[in-house]
Amino acid sequence: TNDQLAQWDRENFFHPSTHLAQHARGETPSRIITGGSGVHIEDRDGTKLLDAFAGLYCVNVGYGRTEISEAIAAQAKELAYYHAYVGHGTEASITLAKMILDRAPKNMSKVYFGLGGSDANETNIKLVWYYNNILGRPEKKKIISRWRGYHGSGLMTGSLTGLELFHKKFDLPLANVLHTEAPFYFRRADLGMSEADFVAHCAAELGSLIEREGAETIAAFIGEPVLGTGGIVPPPKGYWDAIGPILKKHDILMIADEVVTGFGRLGTMFGSDHYGIEADIITIAKGLTSAYAPLSGSIVSGKVWKVLEQGTDEFGAIGHGWTYSAHPIGAAAGVANLKLIDDLGLVENAGMVGAYLKAGLASALGHHPNVGEIRGEGMLAAVEFVEDKESRSFFDPAKKVGPQVSAALLRRGVIARAMPQGDILGFAPPLCLTQAEADEIVAKTADAVKEVF
Ligand code: PLP
Repeated sequence: TNDQLAQWDRENFFHPSTHLAQHARGETPSRIITGGSGVHIEDRDGTKLLDAFAGLYCVNVGYGRTEISEAIAAQAKELAYYHAYVGHGTEASITLAKMILDRAPKNMSKVYFGLGGSDANETNIKLVWYYNNILGRPEKKKIISRWRGYHGSGLMTGSLTGLELFHKKFDLPLANVLHTEAPFYFRRADLGMSEADFVAHCAAELGSLIEREGAETIAAFIGEPVLGTGGIVPPPKGYWDAIGPILKKHDILMIADEVVTGFGRLGTMFGSDHYGIEADIITIAKGLTSAYAPLSGSIVSGKVWKVLEQGTDEFGAIGHGWTYSAHPIGAAAGVANLKLIDDLGLVENAGMVGAYLKAGLASALGHHPNVGEIRGEGMLAAVEFVEDKESRSFFDPAKKVGPQVSAALLRRGVIARAMPQGDILGFAPPLCLTQAEADEIVAKTADAVKEVF
């Protein structure tokens, strides 16, 4: 029964990103999800919800796509597993690597497969260190990330993540991790400061950090094209054009973390295409399989690859590998998923319907006295709440205004995410969202805001 499952859940299941004590006491519900179709999921009580966050911005093609589940079933029947060590592969993993490179920016050269975004970023940092060791500069080791960046919750990736919750009580960040200014114009720019001046400020902060630490000690910079978990924040105009040359000048590798933005979310195949970012390494996960199976990847450029190759001539096989790297079931899901994204024109749809959703939110809520900003890019949008618009003052976090709005919206049948820092309501629907579904999200959000304020 549902009650029995809820009890077993509380007694046995240790959930991620959850208030452990509250859940164990039964103060947060156990929602048992049983099915999904298109942008909707359904729970065991028969409640149907419009998932305007695509799981965790990952079910990009929407739920219930039989093209992918059948590909998974066929792969599982044929060969559920073999490892990828020492040149082993499957038709699916080899085909998927080619499909990824066919879609990636032209300077990209090879893909290493992992399981999730966190382990892919752990791989990236190891590759960057390996790269510098091969080049005979072991002191070039530090990694710069941004405050409010999200890169995972492992030891290194949790350190790179620029959100306090992920450091507190875990003894993080680890050594060799530095954080710089978040390109979050709405929160971080002084009142009245122009976007151009704020971009210059972000660039100057990065420049002085590099100077202080010494470029010879800094290996890489990691950033999401659009800040995701840190608040869904598209960068101010010109940000990436200002950052790129600074990194180049100091021979610092650029890691574009495209776990959220890869495969269409911004209305372009990659966020790097959207902003003209010249990455040396690109992290992919989520949209690679639309989360039908766990799979991630590190795409490395020709420049990085040449050095890695040279290293193995010197040291032997690379000392890095996961049992499940290039797992055949994940790879089969990836092949079917990328094909579906093309066949359904989802990259274009994300750009079109995403812009429509943002415009709808702006017209329904833009004038509300407690809505400070409505922002977004492609199929990513956010509404940020303020206590006072004029002075841009924020609510006391203890009031939990963001979570209250998302709870009110959930009662109306729409899932949006109260982002973890600040009163920010985030939207990242499946890329197949229709205009009618966007209208429903807007109308119900406006209604939920009315209930809270
Ligand atoms: N990088 C980014 C930009 C992410 O948004 C996430 C997860 O949300 C990760 C990395 C970590 O991915 P995972 O949760 O699959 O480990």
